[in-house]
Amino acid sequence: MNFDTAVSEMKESIINSTQELIKIKSVKSNFSEGKPFGQGINNALEYILNLSNNLGFTTKNLDGYIGYAEYGKGEKLIGILVHLDVVPEGEGWLHPPYSGNVVDEKIFGRGAIDDKGPAIAAVYALKAIKDSGINLNSRVRIIFGLDEESGSRCMQYYRNNEEIPACSFVPDANYPVINAEKGILTFKLEKNLKQSSNNIITSILGGSRHNIVPDFSEAALKASPQMAEQIKQKFIDFFNKTQFDMEIDYSSDRLLIKSYGIASHASLPDKGVNAISQLMLFLNELNITDELGKFIQFYSGRIGMEYMGASLGCSYSDDLSGNLTLNAGIVNMSKDKIEVTVDIRYPVKYKAEDIITKIKDSVDHFGISITNIKDVKPLFMPPESDLVENLMEVYTDFTAQRTKPISIGGGTYARSMPNAVAFGAIFPGEPELAHQKDEYISIDSLIKNTQIFARAIYKLAQQQ
Ligand SMILES: [Zn+2]
Repeated sequence: MNFDTAVSEMKESIINSTQELIKIKSVKSNFSEGKPFGQGINNALEYILNLSNNLGFTTKNLDGYIGYAEYGKGEKLIGILVHLDVVPEGEGWLHPPYSGNVVDEKIFGRGAIDDKGPAIAAVYALKAIKDSGINLNSRVRIIFGLDEESGSRCMQYYRNNEEIPACSFVPDANYPVINAEKGILTFKLEKNLKQSSNNIITSILGGSRHNIVPDFSEAALKASPQMAEQIKQKFIDFFNKTQFDMEIDYSSDRLLIKSYGIASHASLPDKGVNAISQLMLFLNELNITDELGKFIQFYSGRIGMEYMGASLGCSYSDDLSGNLTLNAGIVNMSKDKIEVTVDIRYPVKYKAEDIITKIKDSVDHFGISITNIKDVKPLFMPPESDLVENLMEVYTDFTAQRTKPISIGGGTYARSMPNAVAFGAIFPGEPELAHQKDEYISIDSLIKNTQIFARAIYKLAQQQ
């Protein structure tokens, strides 16, 4: 079946509905009865449930936590998971963030690509199928998540109360199919500092989020003029050796050492430069021998500028998802404690416990403990599984591009549903505009997405 023409004929409605949905500011706000994520998000849900109703689908609102539209008959249930909540707009927009204005064949606004455009595309894809008059062998359910941006409590509610589809696709990332998502392991490396009078470092700080490579870090040192001179000389030697982007500043018994890096996502640490790591390597040159010195020595020797865990003994990799990555995202030092927050993305064949055990071997010797361990298990769907094969076939057939499913270190919404994979909605070569200013979806992509979704729904619904 080819639904492309049917979709093209609905172009104006698809654009219109996308604009209307963008105009609803669905940023999370205060809880009220029946609106757990606030008024704005609830308005977005009501808008899309109404639209779905008008297009002839049955709908359900699950106590304001999540909703869905359903069409078709049969035992098997196929899911499409989208979300209607958006992150706050931030600053610096040229196009008003809640206007849905069309400029140069692009619809602008917060949520245009993440994930309102794709949500509307899913609704009209199902409409194209309905209008074609074919009998689906399955039920198709578009699930409208409402809390993807802040913890996915919506999906927890869904999983606890509703039928889990036999398979689902989730257009909240990239094409083609993302069949492997690395595990996400975060924890703190913590060391108690006994107060000691000869401790010259009074503070170390840097980074604000574990999932971002920090672009700034700073240490303050207490030093007499004579000591400051020595440290400055060490700094010059260090700078000549490393060429790190750092500076040193001395005034009234206080030395400030600043380190500048390059921010990037923690899953792509090779694209960034870690400011905390540069700073730690310099501080290690001061040969401090107290408890703090021990921590710095550990950091320099076992992490340093590395981001694949080699010196920590956990440089794992596999053929399905590549190598482990490591980011020291935040450092915080108080009077009696120093802690570094670490974000590890590990390959799908490994377990968080194996990694923790390895790191424990390294840190024990330095009196450092591992705390606040959180693990989000990897997602892996074999390339030869029906879901991945069918979606890849739809994509290849539509775009005439022969490609393979992809593996990423980031986490997508697909992890919140069993038997789900991310599929779209960003085509290769398109900019990554989610959470950015002047977010948009091009009308061309919006229509193509609708056409692909229709084909995908049909394909999955015909399988038994
Ligand atoms: Zn999203």
